Amino acid sequence: MPFITPYRKLIIASHNDGKVIEIAALLRDFNDDIISAKQLNIVEPEETATDFAGNARLKAEHCMQAGGFPALADDSGLSIDALDGAPGIYSARFAQQHGGFTDAFSHLAKILADKKNLNAHFTCALALAVPNMETKIFESHVHGSLCFPPRGIHGFGYDPIFIANGCKTTFGEMLPAQKHAISHRFNAFQKLQTFLHAKI
Ligand code: IMP
Repeated sequence: MPFITPYRKLIIASHNDGKVIEIAALLRDFNDDIISAKQLNIVEPEETATDFAGNARLKAEHCMQAGGFPALADDSGLSIDALDGAPGIYSARFAQQHGGFTDAFSHLAKILADKKNLNAHFTCALALAVPNMETKIFESHVHGSLCFPPRGIHGFGYDPIFIANGCKTTFGEMLPAQKHAISHRFNAFQKLQTFLHAKI
């Protein structure tokens, strides 16, 4: 990745091994020496920002400062129109507080039962922090609506209750490749890759 060549390393600001592997695969064109925050024993900072981009920035800059190398972080979640955008940046915590996704889905089905508008969207914000440079943010969304009861066994998190606009199946019913082709995460990475290619 010539943009960060002087450093030779890119830290993925995550302790989630699955996420690090997925990100490393998405960045394979750039031939980087990719290392995770976990491998460097960098403790994750508290996510205190009020939006996805802010939390991604906070995580990337924390890792970049602690490790001394460029760092990439992501923050993502589901925002539901009828709940004024909740759970949003609290998506992971919302599921935990309800004892896991199955119970969180039942809770959502109950509180949304009388709502006509079940529109929702996923957001993925990526932050690339490079020493002595302004942090770059790449953000993408996928819009759709919620469906109850949940359907499908693929994916993770809120996938079984989300149907993207123009689709008939939930993300949970799609094969990973089908979801990745339209997902918020894939599109945010496309923006990052376009930026990195332009720097070559
Ligand atoms: P984080 O970005 O690792 O903090 O995770 C945010 C949370 O948002 C995840 O734990 C999931 O609950 C939810 N989430 C983010 N992206 C997706 C997705 O593509 N499908 C389903 N749930 C997602």
